[in-house]
Amino acid sequence: MADLYDDDNKGKEQEERETDLTKGHSDASNTQKAGKGDNADYEDVCFICRRPESKAGKMFKLPNNICVCNDCMHKTMETVSQFDYQGMLNNPNLQSEIDQLTRQGGFPNISFVNLADLRGDGGIPNKQKLKRKAKKEEGELALQIKDIPAPHKIKASLDEYVVGQEHAKKVISVAVYNHYKRVATGTMDDIEIEKSNMLMIGPTGCGKTYLVKTLARLLDVPLAIADATSLTEAGYIGDDIESVVSKLLAAADNDVEKAERGIIFIDEIDKIAKKKNTNTRDVSGESVQQGMLKLLEGAEVEVPVGANSKNAMVPLATVNTRNILFICGGAFPDLEDIIKERLTKTASIGFNSELKDKYDKDKNILSKVTVEDIRKFGMIPEFIGRLPVIFALEGLSREMMVKILKEPKNAILKQYQKLLELDEVKLEFTDDALEAIAEKAMERDTGARALRSIIEEFMLDIMYEIPKDDNIGKVTITGSYIRGTGGPIIDIRSNQLTGHIEDLKEIPEQQ
Ligand code: ADP
Repeated sequence: MADLYDDDNKGKEQEERETDLTKGHSDASNTQKAGKGDNADYEDVCFICRRPESKAGKMFKLPNNICVCNDCMHKTMETVSQFDYQGMLNNPNLQSEIDQLTRQGGFPNISFVNLADLRGDGGIPNKQKLKRKAKKEEGELALQIKDIPAPHKIKASLDEYVVGQEHAKKVISVAVYNHYKRVATGTMDDIEIEKSNMLMIGPTGCGKTYLVKTLARLLDVPLAIADATSLTEAGYIGDDIESVVSKLLAAADNDVEKAERGIIFIDEIDKIAKKKNTNTRDVSGESVQQGMLKLLEGAEVEVPVGANSKNAMVPLATVNTRNILFICGGAFPDLEDIIKERLTKTASIGFNSELKDKYDKDKNILSKVTVEDIRKFGMIPEFIGRLPVIFALEGLSREMMVKILKEPKNAILKQYQKLLELDEVKLEFTDDALEAIAEKAMERDTGARALRSIIEEFMLDIMYEIPKDDNIGKVTITGSYIRGTGGPIIDIRSNQLTGHIEDLKEIPEQQ
């Protein structure tokens, strides 16, 4: 026992207690005793605080070669005493030891974990923590007017990514410029600039979401994209209306100030039109429009941080939506008929039949939309009133599709060319091929979204076969390959022995 706790100052009573502590482990102690001679050159190190014996003093030697210094052992006992483990510590024989433990002060290198702390601040995952607000000097503006790019610059940047949609790009550039001017100035004396929330109307796949995404990236502001179809009045199944602000806060890394200058894009806004002829409560239509009114205008909302719904477990943050730019977008499928009806009605006297035909053929009838048409569609006047900038996007024509394929900075063709470039193979598309792809996309009626899936289909075989053969230097996709009447042109690398192989045997022809 002497080498288990070898302190001359300790009395007999102490020794007895230590015997109790190590009872049942005598085998292990013996093993250690046997090996001691071999380890004579080595100093014992405390298992808990890692201090060597020369610093920490004599060690308690526990089974399995574990050593614990005097300090650590005492501290452990102190902790255990809080639980009065099996009444052991009420033993009058141990009282003097416990008194000594209580007198011991600080504890080197060790901090004990308090479970209660884990449940508090430390237990909350990072995504639910709010960023501290930076201290600002009074009167200092978060956004400087000179930092806001002028409308023509915003449009020029958009031009690099978005094909066509000239009118939409112009409107959006001016609206965004005005919006951020308003944010930068705060209130302008008596004249308060109104918010320029927007309503975008355009068929599916014409670039509504893409336009907003590009804009947010260029302006370097956080963007939240929400789907109006998932929104319901608070308390019903679905997302609360305020969850859109919560999303924006997440996009801004939980920085409330940054979120308050962000953009919220609500897609499929036409799906929350007033339902016609319903007797039941319209929790996902008109009520959502009502619920959104205060958000659109500007209000302080309490939103859950890092979650979609408020509950007892998530912290809440207060976000002011006054400077958040809301952009709503939707396809408004039957709106064309409503516009046509209005137009023909106003001009019906005399030449009715002729004019009706004229509007039927007008592809960009949506650009003639008025507030009245949207109200007829089922949006409530208060809602439309809070979206003062209304504009339409054109449906994509075949020429625009071809441009979308090759012109934007990150055009689909450029992406595939880059992929094959890594295999040192050049990829080219003939103009005829691009026309053929655009034609196919037009048939699908899902706008530019169809382009990628069509190219994906044709490129699958190419991407599969090319890496097989190191001799291939260039692949040219032709119109006949897209239409299923021929194959791609394969050029063999530099030595140019073979020239063109019109029919690539390995590649099955598309039907
Ligand atoms: P929606 O109008 O339905 O929101 P999206 O904006 O999601 O359509 O468009 C789908 C994809 O089509 C975008 O990711 C983008 O790559 C492409 N696209 C659509 N319109 C254009 C356009 N005018 N210019 C460039 N790419 C476009």
